[in-house]
Amino acid sequence: MTNSDKIPFLDLIAPHVELEEELVDVFRGALRTGAFIGGSAVEKFERDFAAFCEAEHCIGVSSGTDALRFALMAAGIGDGDIVITVPNSFIATTEAISQSGARPVFVDVDEATYNMDPRRLLEYLEGSCYRDGESGYWRDCKLGRRVAAVVPVHLYGQPADMDKIQAIADGFHLTVIEDACQAHGADYYSEKDDRWKKAGSMGKAAAFSFYPGKNLGACGEGGAVSTNDAELARKIRMLRDHGQAKKYYHDVEGYNGRLDAIQAGILQVKLKHLAGWNQSRSQAARQYAELFDRANLGWLAVQEPEWARSSYHLYVIRVQNRDALMKQLAEVNIGTAIHYPVPLHLQKAYKSLGYKAGDFPVAEHVATEIVSLPMYPQLRAEQQERVVRAIQHFAPASVKAVPATKTSYAAAGD
Ligand SMILES: *Cc1c(COP(=O)(O)O)cnc(C)c1O
Repeated sequence: MTNSDKIPFLDLIAPHVELEEELVDVFRGALRTGAFIGGSAVEKFERDFAAFCEAEHCIGVSSGTDALRFALMAAGIGDGDIVITVPNSFIATTEAISQSGARPVFVDVDEATYNMDPRRLLEYLEGSCYRDGESGYWRDCKLGRRVAAVVPVHLYGQPADMDKIQAIADGFHLTVIEDACQAHGADYYSEKDDRWKKAGSMGKAAAFSFYPGKNLGACGEGGAVSTNDAELARKIRMLRDHGQAKKYYHDVEGYNGRLDAIQAGILQVKLKHLAGWNQSRSQAARQYAELFDRANLGWLAVQEPEWARSSYHLYVIRVQNRDALMKQLAEVNIGTAIHYPVPLHLQKAYKSLGYKAGDFPVAEHVATEIVSLPMYPQLRAEQQERVVRAIQHFAPASVKAVPATKTSYAAAGD
């Protein structure tokens, strides 16, 4: 490798080189059997992915967005309801909420983890909602709608603080649906149950995406719902397949939202490597942290709370002059990205929700400072050294880091 070879932000070619023959065999198998939709490939993958998530059921669907939408709908959430989530996610989170018929309401995130701040969740429920005596549900004072569910997003692969969120949800009659689209294989230490739990096994249901760039990616579109609730699983199976439990007998109106058999076969091949790939990602995360430490840029590194084992879908640092840093890294052929530049409540698409700048200060502030560095299982140590050297080279005067913990952040002043 020379000093100018491209270090891409994401490498979608490398993981498939070694698997090419096996993946082509999947396609060949489908051609020779005509099994394109449903069938044993889908069922086998669903069984294995449920086991991977330590959940009882898995339902393969056509995308992460559909996974989230079907999970909400099957849980009885829809028209007139409110679903609480965070503003610093990908728009699919809120698309799924809106398209189930519900309305998204945001609460701010925690400065140290970028995930839903349980204190803000409680504040919204206690401060802006009232208990509807008749139904036992809570309603938003201004909107009058029932607050039905909460969707914590395990952003960048780091699980949200699920014990606290679940406890609040239990107190306010809310269904918890995890957006685990970035968190295949991440773990959360539940103090309540005194054990580690997998992302996707904690809420009423969880949504996963198999978009190609995710930790487990299809060679096309795909998604899945995991759940421990057999009845919910049955409903989702109907929703994804035109509302039919039996061919041409439609109990409800559903959708065309299935996972196709070729993608299921491909995911089955790749699933065997997922735990190893996640280990490589977390190894790469440790390597970044060490390199930043050695370069006296330790404050840049992401911190993992002791109760989280991230799946390191993304490796995000925070700097005050992010755009300049990205430009400089691009000049030396290092790819970066921003997840995400505009919080959802300030997107044009959500103008009608009536939010304004200043409503969610942490999410808004963080959005101006985050940058995602190259992160994938095949990322090599010498590539990471080059990334950190490049940051260090341009850093001294210009890169002001933002410490990762709330207390040190407050103390740091500027
Ligand atoms: C990728 C992603 C989704 C949507 O998944 P698709 O498969 O692209 O529909 C939803 N939420 C988050 C947080 C994601 O990163």
